[in-house]
Amino acid sequence: MKTATAAGIAGVLERELGSEAVIGPGHERLDDYGRDESPLPEFFPPECAVLCQSTEQVAAVLRICKERQVPVTPRGAGSGMCGGALPIKGGVVLSTEKMQRIKEIDPADLVCVVEPGVITGVLQEQVEAQGLFYPPDPASLEFCSIGGNAATNAGGPRAFKYGVTREYVLGLEVALMGGEVLRCGRRTAKGVTGYDLVAGFVGTEGTFGVITELTLKLLPKPQAAATVLGVFANVPAAGAAISSLLRGGLRPRVLELADKTSIDHIRAKSRYRFPENAGAIVLIEVDGDPDSMAVQMEKIGVACDELGAIDVLGATEAAERRAVWEARRLISPSLKAAYRVKVNEDVCVPRGRIVEMLARVDRVSAETGILCAVFGHAGDGNLHVNLLSHDDPADPAVREKMWGAARRVFEHTIELGGTLSGEHGIGLTKRDYVPLEQSEQVIEWQRKWKTMWDPSGLLNPGKKLPGRKSSCSE
Ligand SMILES: Cc1cc2nc3c(=O)[nH]c(=O)nc-3n(C[C@H](O)[C@H](O)[C@H](O)COP(=O)(O)OP(=O)(O)OC[C@H]3O[C@@H](n4cnc5c(N)ncnc54)[C@H](O)[C@@H]3O)c2cc1C
Repeated sequence: MKTATAAGIAGVLERELGSEAVIGPGHERLDDYGRDESPLPEFFPPECAVLCQSTEQVAAVLRICKERQVPVTPRGAGSGMCGGALPIKGGVVLSTEKMQRIKEIDPADLVCVVEPGVITGVLQEQVEAQGLFYPPDPASLEFCSIGGNAATNAGGPRAFKYGVTREYVLGLEVALMGGEVLRCGRRTAKGVTGYDLVAGFVGTEGTFGVITELTLKLLPKPQAAATVLGVFANVPAAGAAISSLLRGGLRPRVLELADKTSIDHIRAKSRYRFPENAGAIVLIEVDGDPDSMAVQMEKIGVACDELGAIDVLGATEAAERRAVWEARRLISPSLKAAYRVKVNEDVCVPRGRIVEMLARVDRVSAETGILCAVFGHAGDGNLHVNLLSHDDPADPAVREKMWGAARRVFEHTIELGGTLSGEHGIGLTKRDYVPLEQSEQVIEWQRKWKTMWDPSGLLNPGKKLPGRKSSCSE
């Protein structure tokens, strides 16, 4: 085993892959690979970043780094919200952002085969142009990559009806630490041969291997969609409307909720004039046969009215629907623009506990003095709890206060039978909180699983699971 340190690795990789593939020390763009969209004030510059163009290049980087014992952190588009792509131990960032080929879209088999760097929204446009549909729709779809989506098992508003990324990944090609390339999974609609390595790989946040190709399931594109915005006086009224709709047999593709703090931050920007007493909104979207749209909208409208909606707005045409969606889409950027610190947690509680969870978040806010805005995928119980502050994010006291409040939110979530993350992942920012939810026994089995794929522990070290002596502190 050679003992060259990470310090010389950029030169070695340049000789192997060519200098155009490597962003080395001193390069002005290198710092970009030490950041992502997580709310961490510091950044973690790697020794170098490698922009791979092929499976062979990915395998070569993993072989060379294993030989030289250099840590490697896989990275897609860097839109992750929990620090999964941050090279906290230095070494090499292996980016798949240049692997953007859509190799095949097959309407007969209802599959596509793509490289990991394809931008999710681009893939959706391409398949929709052929009358097909790739449902997972993270709000970041205009800039996140499909490889990152599989690595985090990304979800989105449409998950309520169509499920999350895992349900669409049929086959994978992955490169492992050391350079071995493995093709697993299938192209068929069904298949149970052997153990399901693909399902086991999805959601591992770049800790098992680097995804170099994906075979994805597609659906026929729904012929029509309709969107309804219901405005309520408070969260319990909105929650009652949601329960009533679901009990009535409606199966919307989207069921989103936002609280008063979220609404108050978009009032001035939204084209829709929110009523003064708006305390919660519900956004519902249905799809399917064009003839059924009017009936479904009527059902939703009646349920909202019966449960005391202050206003109900419906849209069937694409432009009108975009206008209705605007209110929901404005929330996150408006909060980000208004505060210096925005810790966006994405806890998930059983559907029946949503209203109670929002009440508990109010309690955390009252106890800590931290403003909380909550919105998200109510249909799945997946709530984006945003902890907001105008204070300096680099101040350790501010950091302690914000993460102390986040910890209280996690504790309430677990008490209600929920989970720490519904879609963003664990990455770096939440790894120390995993013991709140999982037993040491369960964590230890996962450590064994990680060791099987990456015995050297060099691939994305320090992510997903707590260290053996967890302090549950950031
Ligand atoms: C405004 C905004 C809105 C968002 N909305 C949503 C949402 O609705 N739903 C949702 O789920 N997420 C959302 N996210 C979070 C983020 O976009 C997703 O987690 C996304 O899946 C990350 O993709 P990426 O390509 O940016 O991956 P990165 O951030 O680059 O990496 C994320 C993780 O995946 C690993 N990884 C990346 N590529 C590979 C690969 N080829 N092989 C192996 N591992 C890899 C990394 O090591 C890291 O652990 C949002 C983020 C932002 C900024």
